[in-house]
Amino acid sequence: MAPTFSFRVLHTDGAARCGEMTTSHGVVQTPAFMPVGTRGAVKGVTPRDLREVGAEIILGNTYHLWLRPGDGLIARLGGLHRFTGWDGPILTDSGGFQAFSLGEKRAITEDGIRFRSHLDGSEHLLTPEGATEIQARLGPDIAMVLDECLAQPAPDSAVKESTERSARWARRCRDRFLALSGRGPGSCSEVAITNPGQAQFGIVQGGTVPELRTLSAERTLAIGFEAYAIGGLSVGERADTMYSVVGHTAPQLPADRPRYLMGVGTPLDIVEAVSRGIDLFDCVMPTRNARNGQLFTSEGRLTIKNARFADDQGPPDPSCACYTCRTHSRAYLRHLFVSGEIGAAVLNTIHNLRFYLDTMARVRHAIVFGTLETLRQSLQAMFSRP
Ligand SMILES: [Zn+2]
Repeated sequence: MAPTFSFRVLHTDGAARCGEMTTSHGVVQTPAFMPVGTRGAVKGVTPRDLREVGAEIILGNTYHLWLRPGDGLIARLGGLHRFTGWDGPILTDSGGFQAFSLGEKRAITEDGIRFRSHLDGSEHLLTPEGATEIQARLGPDIAMVLDECLAQPAPDSAVKESTERSARWARRCRDRFLALSGRGPGSCSEVAITNPGQAQFGIVQGGTVPELRTLSAERTLAIGFEAYAIGGLSVGERADTMYSVVGHTAPQLPADRPRYLMGVGTPLDIVEAVSRGIDLFDCVMPTRNARNGQLFTSEGRLTIKNARFADDQGPPDPSCACYTCRTHSRAYLRHLFVSGEIGAAVLNTIHNLRFYLDTMARVRHAIVFGTLETLRQSLQAMFSRP
């Protein structure tokens, strides 16, 4: 186990846990939500804003940073923390999800994912070893293994084949990671390591088939990572299907390590997953929806461009203490949005991130006081999917 990475559970409420995850750039209170900073920036906001809304850890995307500005350049500039000005914990994904999302522009072999860049059409091969080395240069506190993100729905045979390949790739990622950190065989003098305290998480795949989730969990745990994630969900399946896969998989992951549900979700999805034992989340929803003019509030979703807000002097969310809600009216935010002002994206993003991070604080509080079910019911009333 990487010496600087640790996790401890402080309170439980049913299967839900409230804890502390220590990384080489600080401590994260869990359950935690990670704002998504795809290209080394959370769209619309600065690291100063992120601190103010209560973010403790953010996520970056290996695929994007590798292609531009390049992992070599970021390593020469001291790694992602110094480059971006965010000095708190960072997690990077492996790049697999973005590469898979290229559709016809990519092909998967046992070697890795061959694809054409969305920027200039140039051809690249992302291998398990390569994804591990790129993340060593980028220097996040938590690196993810390269896995195959199969499009759903898929026949069980394809899910099985993909799950087995992900397990083989996970082994290769771990071997390279151990070599890079001087704990395994292999030469790696050509890789500049910018964060010696980096931890690496394995990913459990298996689609929506319980037996394959169990198989993937067994294979991934046998390799041994600092912690484990559940991948391949929130890709178009029904909410109750996702909850049942999480409920099946989370108890199979070690209780003394954080559990990360990748790419999820709405405030309701998050509390449903927390109640099944998940500790970490990331999702583009609060930031992307903010740019599209949708606010998450204590009264549910609010579409700011709606004409009824044209002369509404009230704050976006009367229960929110963020900069946007303290300073501006719904009428002003509507005006900015319909005028196409950059400030609309900035102010809406500050509010939505604060709402998500406040929700996580309420979740942690509820676990300590044994009232998570009450909170779940109130979020269900506001955020059930149509
Ligand atoms: Zn607010």
